[in-house]
Amino acid sequence: MDNKITIAIDGPAGAGKSTIAKIIGKNLNLIYINTGAMYRAVTLKALEKNINPTEILKLESLIDTMDICFINDELILNGENINKELTTPRISNNVSQYASIKEVRVKLVEIMRKMSQKYNVIMDGRDIGTVVLKDANYKFFLTASAEERAERRFKELKDKNIEVDYNNILEEIIKRDYIDSTREVDPLKKANDAIEIDTTGLNIDEVVNLISSYVKK
Ligand code: C5P
Repeated sequence: MDNKITIAIDGPAGAGKSTIAKIIGKNLNLIYINTGAMYRAVTLKALEKNINPTEILKLESLIDTMDICFINDELILNGENINKELTTPRISNNVSQYASIKEVRVKLVEIMRKMSQKYNVIMDGRDIGTVVLKDANYKFFLTASAEERAERRFKELKDKNIEVDYNNILEEIIKRDYIDSTREVDPLKKANDAIEIDTTGLNIDEVVNLISSYVKK
């Protein structure tokens, strides 16, 4: 198998990972894999089918029926573009519970690794540099203050005409980060060899330029 190019971007909710990864993916001709969208898709389907986080076998069978791919930066599930449904507050408020389940992670990580063997990828998430692509060519860890991250999410959702309250978003982000970074399985943490970038006060172009300067080296 020839070696593929892999870039890992991790960090807490709303740090700008997906915005940045999409741009760098376009610039460098890499497929952007939004792994948060994969956990969100599982959450969406589990909620639709009333499968709760304790029903492990049902969750495993559910994932086996899910054919996931990415086209134009968007998740396609069994041929259907479900992106609009993935970022609603209902999914954001439930996703971390489903993402803490080991069996769910094992199945999704396998799908992620297969994608990285087939394509040159830029992948964002929580455990990409530490677990999914331990040997990634480049690893970045993006952070920003919780308030700035909540502000960015607030604007993003408002632009999509989704009714939201800033304080609820801030609360949801803080809660999600807590669950994601304290869970037993593959918690959110910076890989030892990742480059940390605090994006507080930086605009999108500044972050893109910074990351690109490392990738060119
Ligand atoms: O990136 P996004 O905020 O859409 O991710 C949604 C949730 O999916 C995260 O809060 C986390 O619980 C889970 N996730 C994860 N591992 C990843 C990507 C996302 O646990 N690699």
